[in-house]
Amino acid sequence: MRRSADELNKMRKAGKVVAEMHEATRAAIRPGVTTRQLNEVAEAVLEKRGARSNFLNYHGFPAVICTSPNDMIVHGIPGDYRLKEGDIISVDCGAIIEGYHGDAAYTAGVGEISELAQRLIDVTERSLWAGVDQLVIGNRLHEVGRAVQKVAEAAGFSVVREYVGHAIGTAMHEEPQVPNYWPGSPGPTLKEGMVFAVEPMVNVGTYDTYVLDDDWSVMTKDGELSAHFEHTIAVTDNGPEVFTLS
Ligand code: MG
Ligand code: MG
Repeated sequence: MRRSADELNKMRKAGKVVAEMHEATRAAIRPGVTTRQLNEVAEAVLEKRGARSNFLNYHGFPAVICTSPNDMIVHGIPGDYRLKEGDIISVDCGAIIEGYHGDAAYTAGVGEISELAQRLIDVTERSLWAGVDQLVIGNRLHEVGRAVQKVAEAAGFSVVREYVGHAIGTAMHEEPQVPNYWPGSPGPTLKEGMVFAVEPMVNVGTYDTYVLDDDWSVMTKDGELSAHFEHTIAVTDNGPEVFTLS
């Protein structure tokens, strides 16, 4: 779907709120803080900006952000988990302004982290930007996944298959999906005004996953670390425009 200039403006605003949620939660990350406290920090931003949450009550999800530590890949529910030195924590945030959605995620270290954990974070973020670079008019959508996969696998890591990025607009998750790997076909041709959430999930070990009994938390099957970065990006005449950057 192609969005009008007016719609893109609303998505820009929603993206700014999400960027502010990132800044506020990042600043709150330290040993001893609970993931519930991070959720409260994000809630305060939504309230201050008069934005609605697209996460809260999404298929019953009970919070405004997802918090996924260490071997949890995505969709973690904020709660009593207390961050500790050496953890990595993935924080996924979203906001709605005037009916239009923003969605973005990052992974951060808690205090001092291992060299491997830092490399995973750096490579995952780099893979996101490699994917973003493919969002140009006339290109094919699945070049995004090919670029993400190339960066992740060159570093010896794997990209998750069962969870993918998506188009975004008046709903958080719109068609088409945006895989983080080459799915065997080039996908749709990119046109001005299309907006996507690109969100590589990169694992140190294999890409296999399982879901905890809470029916939300997605884990690496082998217990190795996972990182997640995401932005909401429009395809424009001037190249990719990232709405969820600070
Ligand atoms: Mg997200
Ligand atoms: Mg998303």
